[in-house]
Amino acid sequence: MDDETFPADGDDWPIPPAWMWGCEGCVELYSTMKSLAAEPPPPPGAAEPAEGAGSAQVRLARHIAAEHRAELPAYAGSCTRCVDYQTRTARDRAMGRSTLTTEQLGRQHRARHAFVPHSTVHLL
Ligand SMILES: [Zn+2]
Ligand SMILES: [Zn+2]
Repeated sequence: MDDETFPADGDDWPIPPAWMWGCEGCVELYSTMKSLAAEPPPPPGAAEPAEGAGSAQVRLARHIAAEHRAELPAYAGSCTRCVDYQTRTARDRAMGRSTLTTEQLGRQHRARHAFVPHSTVHLL
């Protein structure tokens, strides 16, 4: 994988962990996401593409959260979104609420740390 072929992406794409390359689903979803990210955005007023880079990122994050739970990156103390999910999980637990949804969303966010540019990882 040569990031130099995606100049529009900026230079802060992380190098995906080795376990992603060992999974057909990850490889396929990752290459789809990268090729969509490399396409120029549609001109103003144009119809949105059927699948943009953003939804490809979401599909890959969901796949990793579901299939690679053991390999998920830990919450990052320097990431506002990670801290937010940790805080909400702790608060829900303290109030006796179910933490299932928050933890699920937190896993999908943590998955992003493996493959989304550092400058945009906190957006979802
Ligand atoms: Zn996978
Ligand atoms: Zn994070």
